Amino acid sequence: MRKLAIISQRVHTAASFSVIRIVRRNKNGTAEAEQRGNDIIIYDRFFDLPSSGKSHSLLHELGHWFRDFNVPIESIVGWEKGEGFFINIQGSYTNFEEGFAEAFATYIDDPSWLKSNYPVQFDKLKELVGVSFVSKAKNWVKQVTKSL
Ligand SMILES: [Zn+2]
Repeated sequence: MRKLAIISQRVHTAASFSVIRIVRRNKNGTAEAEQRGNDIIIYDRFFDLPSSGKSHSLLHELGHWFRDFNVPIESIVGWEKGEGFFINIQGSYTNFEEGFAEAFATYIDDPSWLKSNYPVQFDKLKELVGVSFVSKAKNWVKQVTKSL
C-alpha cells in the first residue's frame, strides 16, 4: 500500500459545527445525501435508511465537509477503491474523496473495525481528528437525526 501523508492541523472546535446547515430536498435520485460547502443536503432516499445508516450517511457527509476545510486534497491520494480501500463494504466508492469520507465516518462510528482493517488510515485520522471532535460529532449526529 502506498504511504499516506497528511499535511494538516488538528481541527476540533465545537464552534465549527454551528456553521453546518441541514437542507432537506425532495429528489428521487440515487444519492442519500450530499455536502456542498457548509450545507448537508438530505434527499428522499436518506429516509429509507435504517437509523444506523442515517447516522453513517451524515458522518460520511461530515467527512466531506471536514476534508474540504481541513485536509489538502493531495494528501489523501490513495484513499480510494483500487488500492483496496473500502472495496468490501462500499463497492461504488471510486475516488479518494469518497474513500476519505467513508474512512472518516467509520473512524467515528466503528473505530475498532477501521483500526483492524485499515490501520494506516486509522492512524492518520487519529492525527487529524481530536478526541473532543469525535464526541462532538457523535452528539451532532444524534441531534440531527432526532430533528429530522
Ligand atoms: Zn460521499
